[in-house]
Amino acid sequence: MASQMSLKALADCTYSEMESLVGNLGQPLFRAKQIMEWVFKHYELNPDHMLNLPLKLREELKNKLICMSSKIKEVSKSNDKTTKLLISLDDDEAVEMVIIPSRERITFCLSTQVGCPVGCRFCASGEGGLVRNLKAHEIIEQLYHGIAHSGKFPDNIVFMGIGEGLLNFDNLAEALHKMTEADYIGMSPRRITISSSGYVPGVYRLIELGKPFILALSLHAVDDETRAEIIPDKLRYPIAEILQSCDDYEEKIGRMVTFEYTLLAGINDSRAAAEKLSAMARKHHAKVNLIPYNKTTKEFKRPKEIDILNFRDILEEAGVTVMLRLEKGGKVNAACGQLRAKHMKNDK
Ligand code: SAH
Ligand code: SF4
Repeated sequence: MASQMSLKALADCTYSEMESLVGNLGQPLFRAKQIMEWVFKHYELNPDHMLNLPLKLREELKNKLICMSSKIKEVSKSNDKTTKLLISLDDDEAVEMVIIPSRERITFCLSTQVGCPVGCRFCASGEGGLVRNLKAHEIIEQLYHGIAHSGKFPDNIVFMGIGEGLLNFDNLAEALHKMTEADYIGMSPRRITISSSGYVPGVYRLIELGKPFILALSLHAVDDETRAEIIPDKLRYPIAEILQSCDDYEEKIGRMVTFEYTLLAGINDSRAAAEKLSAMARKHHAKVNLIPYNKTTKEFKRPKEIDILNFRDILEEAGVTVMLRLEKGGKVNAACGQLRAKHMKNDK
C-alpha cells in the first residue's frame, strides 16, 4: 500500500505528465492524447475500457497510476428522485455526492472536504471537525461516479456537499480547472456554483481565477450577533466584509452573487430579519436562496411552513429574486453530510 500512496491519480494528470509517462513506456505520443480523451471527454477512468489502446499499455497504466481511487459504498434515494451516493475514499474515509434531477435539468452536488472545520451549529458535516481536504482527483471522481450512476452529464454542479471548498482552495481550483478548460472536461463555469460560509480570503482567491463561477455566500443572518449564534468564531468573518467581497465579486467577475439563508425557527426567521435581508440583497444585487432547516441531531427547529412562506413573500414583495424548495431533504434538497454522519456512527 505504501507504494500506492506515491502513485499519481489518473484524473490528476496533465497533458504533459501523460506525454512523459507514455514516452517513458516507449509508446508514441499520440497515445497520451487518446488516454486523456478517454479520461476527460468520455469520463472513463478504467484502462480496461480504453479499447483503442494496446493491451500492454492498459496494463501499464494500471500499474503506474491510481486509476479510480474511490468507490460507491451506499446509494440512498429519496422519494423526490434525489439520489445520494456515499463514496468511500482510499483511506476508508467517506464523502457524499448528490444527484438532483428536476424536470428539465440534472444537478450534481459535490463535496470538497472530509468533514468541515467551520462547524456551523446546525450542520451535520461539521460535527467532527475537519478530517482532511479532498484531492482534486477525489473531487473529479465524485462527478464521474454521478455520471456513471445517472447515465447523464450534469447541467449544473453545486459545491454544496460536505466541506468548505474555499478552505481547500488549491485542490478545488485544480478540479475546477479540469472541469472547465476546453482541453479537459470543458464545462461552462457559468453552470458551476461554489458555496461558501463566507470565508472572505477564499472569495478573493476565487476572483483571481477570473472565471464566471456562481458564488453563493451562506449569510444565514443579517447581524453579526445572530450570525455568531450559528457559526463559531474561529472561521467566521464580519457581515460587512462578506458584503464587500460580494460587491468585489460582482465588479470583477460580472456575476450577481447568491445569498444562502438557512431558516432556523426563532433565530433568524423574523419579519425584521426578512426586511433587513431584502434591503441587503437589493443593495448588493444578490439573489436569495432560502433553505429551511433540515433536522439533524442539532437543537434547532425548522420554521412552520406558513412562516417560511411569509419570509419569502417579504423578500419577493421587495423585488428580490428568491429560491425556495419546500420538500424535505435539507440542503440542496438532500442534507449532505447526514449520510456520512450515519456511516461514522455505524462504524463506532
Ligand atoms: N460549506 C459551504 C458549502 C456546503 S453547505 C457553505 O456552508 O456554504 C451548503 C449549504 O447547506 C449551506 O448554505 C449550509 O448552510 C446549508 N446547510 C447545511 N446543513 C443544513 C441543514 N441541516 N439544513 C439546512 N441547510 C443546511
Ligand atoms: Fe461547513 Fe458549510 Fe456545514 Fe458550515 S454549513 S459546517 S461551512 S459544510
